[in-house]
Amino acid sequence: MSVAATYLLQDFNLRNTNQREEILKIFLEHKHALSHADIEKKVGESIDRVTVYRTLKTFLSKGVVHKVLDDSGVVKYALCKNTCTTKEHSHDHVHFKCVECGVTNCLENVVVPEIPMPAGYEKLESNFLMVGICDQCSNTI
Ligand SMILES: [Zn+2]
Ligand SMILES: [Zn+2]
Ligand SMILES: [Zn+2]
Repeated sequence: MSVAATYLLQDFNLRNTNQREEILKIFLEHKHALSHADIEKKVGESIDRVTVYRTLKTFLSKGVVHKVLDDSGVVKYALCKNTCTTKEHSHDHVHFKCVECGVTNCLENVVVPEIPMPAGYEKLESNFLMVGICDQCSNTI
């Protein structure tokens, strides 16, 4: 049982099920974005793929996680910071994909500047991806 995961679920008014807690724990243990397949691999036999899918969908709609699009075409998910709620769930930080280790991270403190849209275009979401070498990998080169 993870205390942090239990509290986090309560904060979001989510019924605490073992599956939800298990999946949330995986996000808490990994600081980087995870794909559906990554999560499935980590939960192993204990949770079936439909439950993983449903849980991610719930987390996404409740502001627990947000989508991270990287250049692999695979949708990944990363934990939202405390500021997200069901209603207020927008992100303007940069995502960084490392070409060495393949990990995609949220750069929470690197904010995308407001980009003006041409007339007639309404922005709903923005996904900003930087590709390069992360701090972990640049230390070992
Ligand atoms: Zn969010
Ligand atoms: Zn790296
Ligand atoms: Zn992010």
